[in-house]
Amino acid sequence: MTGKRKLRRSFSDDQERLCLGSHLSVSGGSWKAVREAQELGLRSLQIFTKNASRWIQRPIEQKEVHRFREEMEKWGPHPVTSHDSYLINLASPKEELFQKSIDGFSDEIERAELLGLDFLVMHPGAHVGSGVDVAIERIAAGMTECFRRVPHVKTRILLENTAGGGSTMGRSFEELRDLLDAIDTPERTGTCLDTCHMFAAGYELRTESGYQQTMKNLDRTVGARRVFALHLNDSKGDLGSHLDRHMHIGDGLIGRIGFEYIINDDRFGGIPKMLETPKENDMDRKNLALLKRLGKKKVASK
Ligand SMILES: [Zn+2]
Ligand SMILES: [Zn+2]
Repeated sequence: MTGKRKLRRSFSDDQERLCLGSHLSVSGGSWKAVREAQELGLRSLQIFTKNASRWIQRPIEQKEVHRFREEMEKWGPHPVTSHDSYLINLASPKEELFQKSIDGFSDEIERAELLGLDFLVMHPGAHVGSGVDVAIERIAAGMTECFRRVPHVKTRILLENTAGGGSTMGRSFEELRDLLDAIDTPERTGTCLDTCHMFAAGYELRTESGYQQTMKNLDRTVGARRVFALHLNDSKGDLGSHLDRHMHIGDGLIGRIGFEYIINDDRFGGIPKMLETPKENDMDRKNLALLKRLGKKKVASK
């Protein structure tokens, strides 16, 4: 495994290039999410491997692993990502929460590995007053300890960008780059970019020139080769509002055009692009159908 991925320009079909997916519920067992992914015709999937608002949960049982892998064989091979618990804060200046976060995140890595997942998306954390530079060192130290406890595994850890509300870390591409550089374990890390968070953090996606400027900025800092997944969410908040509120594709302030740019961008061909939008009224199916229409660009010739 290397720290950067190759940018692919040719794919067998649009489905493979778009690699669309969604965050699905694991209630009743993680294998149920894989079954639903098949039913929805997804090409990528995100799940929680434990209750996202609890610290402690029983280990995953062997029979669940077996069931999960069985369903994966019917559906896959498509990339599966887990998302870490909202309680974890590796940036915390409080020693107790920091240690708890190391325990919790090590457990997240182990769970993802047990299921054989490709990626584990994590929120870098919030410094709650200690400052950005201190937080970067803190997160790097915490992550290094997690990597020491769970030696090299298949699952790659992806730091997610944030909308930048409060003291959350990862609000800018520069901050993500500095975090990745400080963690300094490129073979086990990368980033996941959330469109709602990018836009709310102040990155323009709605105009051709604004989009190109944002991507130039990305190329200069993190680099597209360190982006391994995208979260596709429209935004309730305006550009630079720092509001983390997801909307259905085309219903928020990014609008359809922003998604058309991003999903047809060669930089992101073939990487998971997953919805994190509300599920009511069969909305996943509707959002996916819209994204497929927007992703109409012809397959690049070989
Ligand atoms: Zn997230
Ligand atoms: Zn997200």
